Amino acid sequence: MSLSPFPCAPSSSVRVAAAVRHAVATGLLGESGPVAGFVDTDGVRDSVAALHEAFAGVPGVLHTFAAKAASLVPVLRLLAECGMGCEVASPGELRIALDAGFAPSRIVLDSPAKTREEIRRALALGVALNADNLDEVDRIASLRPSNAASVVGLRVNPQVGGGSIGAMSTATATSKFGVALRDPGARERVVEAFAAHPWLTRLHAHVGSQGCSLELIAAGIGETYRLAEEINTLLGRRQITGLDIGGGLPVNFADDEVRPTFAAYAAALRAAVPGLFDGRYELVTEFGRSLLAKNGFIGALVEYTKDAGGRRIALTHAGAQTATRTVFMPDAWPLRVGAFGSDGRPKAGPSLVQDIAGPCCFAGDVVAHARDLPELREGDYVVLYDTGAYYFSTPWAYNSLPRPAVYGFRTEAGPDGPSVRFAAVRDAQSLDSISAESGLAHADALLHFPS
Ligand SMILES: *Cc1c(COP(=O)(O)O)cnc(C)c1O
Repeated sequence: MSLSPFPCAPSSSVRVAAAVRHAVATGLLGESGPVAGFVDTDGVRDSVAALHEAFAGVPGVLHTFAAKAASLVPVLRLLAECGMGCEVASPGELRIALDAGFAPSRIVLDSPAKTREEIRRALALGVALNADNLDEVDRIASLRPSNAASVVGLRVNPQVGGGSIGAMSTATATSKFGVALRDPGARERVVEAFAAHPWLTRLHAHVGSQGCSLELIAAGIGETYRLAEEINTLLGRRQITGLDIGGGLPVNFADDEVRPTFAAYAAALRAAVPGLFDGRYELVTEFGRSLLAKNGFIGALVEYTKDAGGRRIALTHAGAQTATRTVFMPDAWPLRVGAFGSDGRPKAGPSLVQDIAGPCCFAGDVVAHARDLPELREGDYVVLYDTGAYYFSTPWAYNSLPRPAVYGFRTEAGPDGPSVRFAAVRDAQSLDSISAESGLAHADALLHFPS
């Protein structure tokens, strides 16, 4: 179901094509802005609505957005306005979540390495925290004022196994996250911690991200639910009142289809853990990629093309600085690439096998290998689809390349095709800023050490 106000509102791919054409026509993409990220705000609103819809009828759900997936204040503010809370995992993420306008009571702090100072601050603000381990529970116990408003939970690792991407699998036997539940004595120690600390009222599990199946995620949540039931039974009181079931719904990067949907996820959970939705536990979710990935793209200018040893290469401005995971793990994170002409319209014409390379000075800086695309030329553009999460919002400072600009866009159906409006989300990083972040204020520091 589309929630757009127009009965014949443009589809996602039509909106992206319109945004590319308009970005080129207005110069947002071009010589002075050779790479930029774009966020489809109508798409974001639709995705949030689909999430709420999937859990409609379940009492007491707080849907938080995992800030690391799109750490941009205006994007977070849009999500806050759409009724989301926010999951943060560092002082920086907490700061931008507050700046975006999330109420502290709708923020959840997860991180495997919280300092005492971070814990104090979260407790002072009333932000919920999930302790990563039992030592952290002790630390929170020693810092927690007796009237603290923060909900405190404990992250567990149900050790149900990994998905297809090792680095994204957080519920393997040896994952660094949470209390490894199946380790000898671990369950007993968790029960003891809950017995000792009546303010410990939540269990948290985030089974994995991209590459994990719905069944695997549901199995991990099922384990967590059963642990909550067991603890409450053993303690003879309903101490655990909330379950934070994490995020991790995978995204289809192969084509336009949203798959799996939030509705499919909710159905899988309902089937695997029937008691989860009956209202006895407040639920918290922490989705990131599944809300934003398909609602953003990267556009980049083709600066040159060349042939080398029989290989055709397009040298573009989108490389590892904005598509880091894809460059370093191309098999785990393949991206669809679109070829657009210098007029910003999709290119037609005979196709050719080409590599799409970036601007970074290392040979492996290639965002797509051996793609069959209409032949790219100097002055054309490439689009990296489905990059609304963890790509342009999370740049890498290699080669002192600037953080690319980010724009939000809205499209409306019109008589001559969709019209597009842009809003700046983040300016491209200036050279002054690059120098400042490179220690300019300490330029002489290594010439004259203080005596
Ligand atoms: C990264 C992360 C998420 C979000 O994961 P997605 O795959 O983007 O949905 C949620 N919870 C925790 C604890 C995380 O580390």
